[in-house]
Amino acid sequence: MEGAELHEACGVAAVADLEEGAPQLAVQALISLQHRGQESAGVASVDGEGLQLERGMGLVSEVFPSGRPDSRAGTMAVGHVRYSTSGSPSLENAQPFTFRSRFGTFALAHNGNLVNALDLRRRLEGEGAIFQTTTDTEVVAHLIAHSRRDTLVEALQEALMQVRGGYAMVLLSRTGLLAVRDPLELRPLVFGQREGRAAAVSESCALTALDLPLLGDVAGGELVSIDPAARIKRHPGFLPAGPRSMCSFEYIYFARPDSVISGRTVQMVRRRLGEELAREAPVDADIVVGVPDSSLPAAEGFARTLNLPLEQGLAKNRYVGRTFIQPSQGERELTLRLKLVPIAEVVVGKRVALVDDSLVRGTTASHLVRLLRQAGASEVHLRIASPPYRHPCHYGIDTSNREELVAAGRDEATIARWVGADSLAFLSADGVGRAIGESGCMACFTGRYPLSVVGAGAKRSAEVGP
Ligand code: AMP
Ligand code: SF4
Repeated sequence: MEGAELHEACGVAAVADLEEGAPQLAVQALISLQHRGQESAGVASVDGEGLQLERGMGLVSEVFPSGRPDSRAGTMAVGHVRYSTSGSPSLENAQPFTFRSRFGTFALAHNGNLVNALDLRRRLEGEGAIFQTTTDTEVVAHLIAHSRRDTLVEALQEALMQVRGGYAMVLLSRTGLLAVRDPLELRPLVFGQREGRAAAVSESCALTALDLPLLGDVAGGELVSIDPAARIKRHPGFLPAGPRSMCSFEYIYFARPDSVISGRTVQMVRRRLGEELAREAPVDADIVVGVPDSSLPAAEGFARTLNLPLEQGLAKNRYVGRTFIQPSQGERELTLRLKLVPIAEVVVGKRVALVDDSLVRGTTASHLVRLLRQAGASEVHLRIASPPYRHPCHYGIDTSNREELVAAGRDEATIARWVGADSLAFLSADGVGRAIGESGCMACFTGRYPLSVVGAGAKRSAEVGP
């Protein structure tokens, strides 16, 4: 699609299992990370023969209907789920990728976005590299292949010293697994281990699925290596770390509520976001209604702080797909109509405080305000548990073009009129910081990017490709 952006907010997993169940465990990890990407899924694993790769389009359960890859046995595997708004979903961009190099065959998968990928790609093409895909992952693979260093680990280090961006990256070779987190900790990556089994995954909910205790977060610029005996070794300072800038949107919307990031359970952060919102923007309402599912903890915190009843005023059809990435506004609205429906008897004659976690294009909010009124609500007050989303993300979270961001260039009164709410208030960036307990990246809200993004816009349009 012309003008499409290639934003990827994916999920990665690297698993070692002495009982040779790594490919199946990787599928289990991906099922737990499904919310991070529904476009494609893949697993690469090593067995006695070499490196096996299975990838496909769709949900993990569609790509691996039996719950496991065909290559059933193997002590090590990496997996990936992909989420992208790029125009045409295509198998060629589905990860992991495998590459042959003088270090042997290896598989690579990553979550995130490299802001200088286009510059690196041009340089590599100038040196004769031929690219098969439009992904940043392949840029890293070429940098590894071009390195003159002696080992794969050193080549990876040299490659990553040249890239800038937010990423969680996993690499599989016959000798072991490597997992690296970007120097600013923009994208999440955690690890866990017990006797005979170890993993590094995007979110701790995938460790729970593998019956592994969470040992900690991979630090910024740190490498975690896992050997074939499932032993973990940490290599802090593998890349020079920058100021910690964990993505606040992971807490606000993206991560699963049971995941623990930097020692904080996402569900509890969301509840505190609602509490902060109630303190900053209280409202005289009869009931509080949260937008299912991601906003329910914030609605709970909001209602409890204001001593208002929390009501389930919206029913959600779980079997309707995602509205967010549909290409046209008409399609997004139609899908929303099927997906979220007010329960008239709950809201009729009531002053409703409607709590959502974020406002991006404003499609969800304006649709729900209209439907709640049609269902008989006497007033609808919209409360958003994050600041206005005004700036595109360059570090790997799928948002949309700047022109589509309803809050870009508009003040709150104008947005309130646009969505048709009686009142509208957002949580401040300081409030988000208080709820999380530290101020990580909030660039999409504040426009203050922790990493220079010069050239990132150019990259997107060039990436659309022929
Ligand atoms: P919008 O309807 O465009 O204003 O998007 C905001 C709604 O979509 C909220 O209800 C969020 O829970 C949800 N949302 C926010 N960010 C994303 C995302 N990156 N992918 C899918 N849904 C999202
Ligand atoms: Fe997360 Fe927003 Fe920063 Fe992107 S710009 S990494 S979505 S906080």
